[in-house]
Amino acid sequence: MTVVTERPGQDQLDQVVRRLRTVLTEEQILTSRTDRYNRARVPAPFPVHRWAERVPDLAVLPTSTEQVAQVITIANELRVPIVPRDGGTGLTDGAVPLRGGIVLDVKRMNQIHQLDLENRTVTVGTGINMLKLNEELGRHGLIYPDDPASYPCSLVGGRIGTSGWSLIGARYGHTRDLVLSFDHVLPTGEVLHVGDGIGHKISKSSSGYQLKHLFMGHQGTLGVATRATLKLYPKPEAELSPFWAFDNYDDAYRCVGALARAGVATFAGAVLFDEWKVAYLRRDDEAYIPQPKDVRALVCAVMYGYEDEVRPAGRRLFKIAKEHGARYLGDEISEGDWAARHDRYATPLHGRTRDGQVVPMSWHCEDAAINYTRLPAVTKAWHEIVAELRRKTDLFDDWGMFAYTSSDTGVDYLTEIDIGIWEQQLNDDAWAEWVQTKRQIAAVALAHDGSISACHGSCREGEVDLVPDELGRGYQLMLDLKRAVDPNNIMNPGKYLLDAAYADDPLAALDALRGRTSHE
Ligand SMILES: Cc1cc2nc3c(=O)[nH]c(=O)nc-3n(C[C@H](O)[C@H](O)[C@H](O)COP(=O)(O)OP(=O)(O)OC[C@H]3O[C@@H](n4cnc5c(N)ncnc54)[C@H](O)[C@@H]3O)c2cc1C
Repeated sequence: MTVVTERPGQDQLDQVVRRLRTVLTEEQILTSRTDRYNRARVPAPFPVHRWAERVPDLAVLPTSTEQVAQVITIANELRVPIVPRDGGTGLTDGAVPLRGGIVLDVKRMNQIHQLDLENRTVTVGTGINMLKLNEELGRHGLIYPDDPASYPCSLVGGRIGTSGWSLIGARYGHTRDLVLSFDHVLPTGEVLHVGDGIGHKISKSSSGYQLKHLFMGHQGTLGVATRATLKLYPKPEAELSPFWAFDNYDDAYRCVGALARAGVATFAGAVLFDEWKVAYLRRDDEAYIPQPKDVRALVCAVMYGYEDEVRPAGRRLFKIAKEHGARYLGDEISEGDWAARHDRYATPLHGRTRDGQVVPMSWHCEDAAINYTRLPAVTKAWHEIVAELRRKTDLFDDWGMFAYTSSDTGVDYLTEIDIGIWEQQLNDDAWAEWVQTKRQIAAVALAHDGSISACHGSCREGEVDLVPDELGRGYQLMLDLKRAVDPNNIMNPGKYLLDAAYADDPLAALDALRGRTSHE
């Protein structure tokens, strides 16, 4: 049998279902249209008339690492594609099956297996979400501080599969720092444990290659994480999240840089909202308290820790903000807005056409990693690109930008432009226009020495063909690794142009794939 390049045929599917019945119960194998469509959708906009292209042939609900290994072994033997899905909230279409096959839904693996209060770790099934986990940990005065805006609905396995980014990462680190180790099922069905060294609870080892990082952020192309051991912290006693208003972007930009560089130990992050974002919030976002028209930019800083650390640190940051012309918005708005951080974009959304008509829109979130010094230039270039798109077609709206510190030194920012897309109206021409715009936006990030994605990954049309440019020789190594780890291309085939790995001449195949992508 050859490697996977297309959707499985009916014979293959009948055979796979027969084999799955030998390792799973009937109710763990889902073949109905509803069950399959439910696992085809992800939040990032895509033309409605093409949804059927992304529907899996079946879904499975394993309950243990052993069952995951058995399912993958069968899929590998029969060359049926398999795509891991956790919360399905990923914004780069990672959990979308591009070649049909099996969606492996890990939500039933949501147990807390071991809470180790002395070593401050918890071992969980990767189908658990952070909200549920933290409810339990809170009883012990502890917290697992991976805090994405998708906190209530993304799951630990998806955080591993994307190498997620946390809103309070400057204080506690991001998913890669907080996950100590995990059990991982390879595309051949073998199970290995990856972490720092082989220990389950080791946070720093120099023994051998650092495989933990290889098996994070791969978007399900290298296997499935099934059980993870996570680092825990004391639940913070105090949380301070002052919001400040500015009458111009430049002062706000200088202020956010100064706050991030201040070296305050409890600093968990700072956010810069540009003029477009403030205008959008005033106009259309129900989660916010609208700011008056003279407010042209906002900055928020967040501190987490004990009361006697956070209050003095807060005074220091307030002083810095004042020196940069900030106006404090008061406790109520500051606390309320920070508390709403998990609600933003999780509800049905609307945007505006050029003539101000209110229409239903879905959310595209660009999430480049950009150095502080490049933020103004990237901000300007991105808004110009979106303005040009809006001149050509009426299905898109510019919802403004955030820039959010990724680290405690303020070196780089998750730089987000939010674009409303009237998904139901997307025809092939509008989609092609969007893909071209998306490519221009990603190219700006690279031209400014940034990364296409700080957060979600870069698998979508309009960005994926730039990934080899971003990674250079490293991308060729990715092709070699993919072929070595997944010899039959069964894990999430079609993502990251990795099909090229299986061609006799991978680089020629890559050129062909990129050519096709760039002309779609
Ligand atoms: C409203 C909203 C806000 C968001 N805010 C943030 C944010 O602040 N920070 C951030 O990082 N992201 C954010 N995201 C994006 C998304 O929530 C993250 O990418 C998240 O990590 C995905 O987790 P999930 O459980 O939904 O994974 P899924 O979407 O199910 O999967 C994501 C990828 O990981 C793979 N995968 C899934 N499970 C496993 C597994 N067990 N082992 C290996 N691979 C696996 C999938 O195949 C896919 O490629 C946001 C999304 C939304 C909708």
